[in-house]
Parts: sequence; structure tokens; C-alpha cells
Amino acid sequence: MNKRSIEDVQFSGQSVLMRVDFNVPFSDGKISDDSRIRAALPSIQKVVDNGGKLILASHLGRPKGKKSPELSLSPIAEHLGSLLSNTVKMAPDVIGDEVNSMAQSLQPGEILLLENTRFYPEEEGKGCSKEEQEAFARKLASLADIYVNDAFGTAHREHASTAVVCRFMETNVAGYLMQKELDFLGDAVENPERPFIAVIGGAKVSGKLEVLQNLISKVDALLIGGGMAYTFLKAQGHSVGSSLIENDLVDTAGDTMKQAENNGVKFMLPSDHVVGDNFAEEAQTQTVGMEIPEGWMGLDIGPQTVQTYAQEISKAKTIVWNGPMGCFEMAPFAKGTMDICRAIADTSATSIIGGGDSVSAVGQSGVADKMSHISTGGGASLEFLEGKELPGVAALDPK
Ligand code: AMP
Repeated sequence: MNKRSIEDVQFSGQSVLMRVDFNVPFSDGKISDDSRIRAALPSIQKVVDNGGKLILASHLGRPKGKKSPELSLSPIAEHLGSLLSNTVKMAPDVIGDEVNSMAQSLQPGEILLLENTRFYPEEEGKGCSKEEQEAFARKLASLADIYVNDAFGTAHREHASTAVVCRFMETNVAGYLMQKELDFLGDAVENPERPFIAVIGGAKVSGKLEVLQNLISKVDALLIGGGMAYTFLKAQGHSVGSSLIENDLVDTAGDTMKQAENNGVKFMLPSDHVVGDNFAEEAQTQTVGMEIPEGWMGLDIGPQTVQTYAQEISKAKTIVWNGPMGCFEMAPFAKGTMDICRAIADTSATSIIGGGDSVSAVGQSGVADKMSHISTGGGASLEFLEGKELPGVAALDPK
């Protein structure tokens, strides 16, 4: 990583504003999965142990610029306190006099959690001017001496607390989680041990086109699955029945395959399919070969494809996976995705899982602990794989 990190600064006696991603799911008013909070603990602990005065900032849900008590971070302060066996003070707001005085009275090793940053429209910069967003970011910056960004999940957003704030801070560094994400993704893309393969799936070509185009100059093989495969198969002249097709992208799909061929990249498409007569869990299903009959839609890769892909996966030294191989949320169409999960888990390759759906598929498969890295940021990891610079990363100090 070519950015300064939390390891490169001294926190003793300093006020530290740390952007974390505490956007956790709730069910019946209780945190139902605290992995995002746990993922930030190493950075939090580092600042606290070094005698820093820690001010945490995060968003939660989509309050759309309004103060919404049901999206308060207050339950998170309590939960974080219990994880750390330390008191986490809860601020009544994100900015303002009361917050300023709470921040100023923090002692070394103490922690203050600000309210949901998205209670202010300035956070996302929607419905306000650039100047208003900067004024909000300046108020956040005035709370601390050092800024740490550990919120990889929002690093692809140029928001007040993720990027704009850095303009008004002297020291801007990456936290441990951010560093780990950038090291894994960066190494995989720029310095992979070969063979390097990418397994790309998901609903539509349009959602993954930029990823494919970026990876074509880097990988040895591309393994395609999910709904997006059918636009490629159509471009090759196969019958695709009523599968999900983006007709306006059939030519682009053809060009992408030519580009892969020109670059010497093996471009692999499914050779058999689990099809349904309907997009539903209760659909009639059958397994068919390359050609999909009229009235049927491809909803998962078939067993022969799994075998061919698993063979390719077993030879890889670096694997990036983004997007499921089928509609894995519906039991009759989950097997392809689950089998690919297991094939990746069985290798000793560096395996990097990015994207919300692939992450939940890996969770469902029970082999999550066999993966080298499961990204905490779906959108952010996708933009990284597209070769884009993430605003939250760009704003940090260079090494
Ligand atoms: P994405 O967000 O683009 O990664 O797409 C993930 C979604 O694609 C999941 O909800 C899957 O159910 C869906 N998906 C995967 N395969 C197919 C398919 N063959 N047809 C329609 N949708 C699919």
C-alpha cells in the first residue's frame, strides 16, 4: 500500500478522528451481525493503547440527511463498549457545541462515538452545495489532530467524513482494516502469483463490464457464471431460451471475448445449465447442455461446468471471485455457486472474495474460514477491481 498507515503515527495525547464502517444490520432492534464492528477493533485498540483520544464516526442505514432516532448509533456505542470492556461515550450529535465540548474533555484512552454522519445531508453532499459540505467537513476536522480511515466499505464514496474531511486535516492515514483490504486486493491485481484467475458472476453484464475490461489485461483466465453468462453465450450464437439477456450488450460481449483472445486470456463460459421454467424457487427444473430450450431460463451452472471450472481453479495460485454462479438464494439453483465455493476453498491459492452476494454465498457454504480474504466492502472492492481510484483512499497521505 502506498499510503501512510496507522503504524506510521504516534497517537499519545492526540485527538484522533477515525472513520469506521459500523453500518451493521439490525433485527428487532438488536445488532444481528457485528462483524463490521469487530473488524474495526484492531485500529481502535491501537489508538486507545497508544494513549490517543479517540472519536469514532460512522453512518448507519439511509436517514437521507434527517435526524432519525431509529438510526441512532447509540446501541452500537453500548455494544462496542462491551466488546472492548471500556466505556464508549455516545455523542448527542455529529457536530455542534455539545459534541465539541465532549471531544475536548476526552482523556487519553477514552472513546467518543459521534451520531450517524448521514443525519446531515452534507455527509453525502446531496441537496447541499459544495461549500456547505466543506463547512460540515471542516467542523468534523476541528474535533481532532489526526484522521484515520478504516471504513473500506465506504471508501468508494467521496463523502464528508470519508474524503472531504482530509482537506482540513494535517495527518490522514489508513487503519488496519483499510490497509489489509488494499494490500490483498492491490497485490492480487498488480502483483499476482500466477496462474491468476477471476471468477465473475452475478446478474448482469452491465454491472461487471468494467471489471472484466480491467481484468482482461491482468488475469490468465476468466471464468464466467450467473445471469451475465447468457449475453456472452448469445454473442457466440447459442440458444439461451428466456434467460436474462442484455440485448444492447451482445456486441460488447462479443468484443470483450475477442479482446480476451487477443490478450491470450482463457475466457470460459458455462457448457451446461440448470434451467427453470420460471424465475421462482418452485419452478420446474432440468439440467441441459450448451443449448437452452425455448421457454426455459438458465438459473445456475450445470455439473459439467462445475467440473471444468473446478479443474481450472485447482491450478490457480491467485483467485479473485466476484458474483454468484446462479440464483443461489433459491435452493434449486444454489449448487453451482456452493460447489465453486468449495473448489476455491480446496486450493492453497490466495483467494479473495469481493462483493456482497459472493460474501453471503461463502458464508452459506460454511467454508468462509478457508478463504484468504473476504472483503468487507462490496461496492468498494468492485470499484477497486474496475481499476478506479477510491476517493477515500486517494485522500490519504502518500507514504
Ligand atoms: P450482482 O449483484 O450483479 O453480483 O448479482 C447478484 C444476483 O445475481 C444474485 O441475486 C443472483 O440471484 C443473481 N443471479 C445469478 N445468476 C442469475 C441468473 N442466471 N439469472 C438471473 N439472476 C441471476
